[in-house]
Amino acid sequence: MAKMEKYGPGRVVMGRLDHGADLLEEITGICRKEGIRMGRVEAIGAVSGARLGFYKQETREYRFFSIDQPLEILKLAGNISIKDGEPMVHAHVVLGDKDGKAFGGHLAPGTTVFACECMIEFLEGPVLERKSDRETGLPLWDM
Ligand code: ZN
Repeated sequence: MAKMEKYGPGRVVMGRLDHGADLLEEITGICRKEGIRMGRVEAIGAVSGARLGFYKQETREYRFFSIDQPLEILKLAGNISIKDGEPMVHAHVVLGDKDGKAFGGHLAPGTTVFACECMIEFLEGPVLERKSDRETGLPLWDM
């Protein structure tokens, strides 16, 4: 059975990220600054290059790959919760190239913002903490 908690909407911060910033670090920094412990994030924009991950279920490790070209952020969706006492942003992105071809994956450090409009919503409710999960090897919510 799925394990779910209930959340109410909180305030929203919305704005643009700095040109040249690391996309994941920038969003994480906003969460730290604003004291966001539970929330969700979405963004659109463009990056000058990306680094994404794919979780290899057989070996239980991420394979990271880089795409060194300008790309549109077609969709960034993610959540914010706690890992090791700090806010952790877990986001996935779909990126598009000049021909409309899409790439996607788990957002990793090393993705550089060209321009990005970002919205982060605080959620009011129980704070979820990530712990290493034996079944998957992933840092999943301990609930
Ligand atoms: Zn992921």
